[in-house]
Amino acid sequence: MRYVLGVEVVALLAMVAAVITDSAAVPADWRRVGLLVVAGAVHLWLSRRTEETRRDGGPGPHMDTTVVWTLPAMVLLPAWLAVASMLLLRVQLYPVARRPLYRYTFSTAGILLAGLASLAVIRLSGIDFDRAFGVREALVLVAAGTVYFLVSAVVVAGVITLSTPQPTWAMAVGSRRDNGMAAMTMCLGAVAVIALLQTWLAPLFLVPLLCALDWGALQIENLRGDARTDHKTQLLNSRGWHEQASREIVRARRRNSTFAVAVLDLDYFKQVNDTWGHPAGDAVLRAVGSVLRETTREGDIVGRFGGEEFVLLLPDTDAEQATLVAERVRQGVAEMHVAATDKRGQPVLIADRTTSIGVAAGPGGTAELETLLRSADAAVYEAKNAGRNRVRMFDPAGA
Ligand code: GH3
Ligand code: MG
Ligand code: MG
Repeated sequence: MRYVLGVEVVALLAMVAAVITDSAAVPADWRRVGLLVVAGAVHLWLSRRTEETRRDGGPGPHMDTTVVWTLPAMVLLPAWLAVASMLLLRVQLYPVARRPLYRYTFSTAGILLAGLASLAVIRLSGIDFDRAFGVREALVLVAAGTVYFLVSAVVVAGVITLSTPQPTWAMAVGSRRDNGMAAMTMCLGAVAVIALLQTWLAPLFLVPLLCALDWGALQIENLRGDARTDHKTQLLNSRGWHEQASREIVRARRRNSTFAVAVLDLDYFKQVNDTWGHPAGDAVLRAVGSVLRETTREGDIVGRFGGEEFVLLLPDTDAEQATLVAERVRQGVAEMHVAATDKRGQPVLIADRTTSIGVAAGPGGTAELETLLRSADAAVYEAKNAGRNRVRMFDPAGA
């Protein structure tokens, strides 16, 4: 992509220009490089488990605390040492980050640009942090951090805008939470600068603090996930489903595309519990969860609303296609053979379970989620009344 190459070339040129024009290193600078690289490496090594777990969690907000080492490098060192130490840190992060090389190169270029922009702010101000640190220095540091933040935000916004078919302002800018995280790590970077100006022992306190923050952020992320997951089936629970579905509907409305909702209710599910006991019933619920995962697409939003009721949101799907999906699900459930144990602990194979499914589709991007859910629910009752084990499309005329 032209944009990505463009950013990389500009970053490379900026790097060369900065290295050529900036001052030479003095022995104190070398000590700082060593300190920053070692501290960054220890931090990375200690928090690598957290980092890997987070990256495995897929997309989503992610705090890059390495900026806490790159900002001091850019602010306190001559350009070529700053660039060298930042690249050294990035090379160490690469195996932990587990990103495709081209993406990693691009984000490195973005960080390089942001860092060099903050370095330019320092040089333009003519300030030498080592001489004194007063109000003027603090303001320059804030300006350098802000420029760092803004440049990286612009680089990221550019790539999002160009790589999504219908980018929105919110997508390009990112959520308030993402930006809050980025601003917070920038403040930590500033604290690291001030601490390093005081003593070379600062990393002794900074590294444990950062590890604790990384770990805490991951815990919060996990808790948020837990609050949105149905533990029996690992599908979304009602809350998680509504959150994701609402987001999807905003998108569908903007694209003016149709979407459909399907509600499933298992037939005579009480019989399963009565005949074989609750654990067997749970095994059937888990099997239905697997069928739903297997019969739906990547972008479909699948949830369990408690009990034996499941809900699907199918983006970019009209009534006809949604009926096909529902039919596939109905067949999948009918073909299940669920291994479970009965009330006395003997193994049983539960088969011939059926489900009734109601489908409702939205008219061209104006539909309300709650209305569609109600309509699909009404269609489920019609399917039940018509003899169960079938798919019913909501019919407004019949309602
Ligand atoms: P139909 O929908 O075909 O009318 O019959 P049904 O037997 O499925 O009807 P109903 O909705 O009355 O029964 C739902 C049953 O699902 C009642 C409850 O015991 C059972 N159930 C709800 N949640 C769970 C659960 O988490 N685990 C198990 N094992 N059973 C559950
Ligand atoms: Mg029910
Ligand atoms: Mg039922």
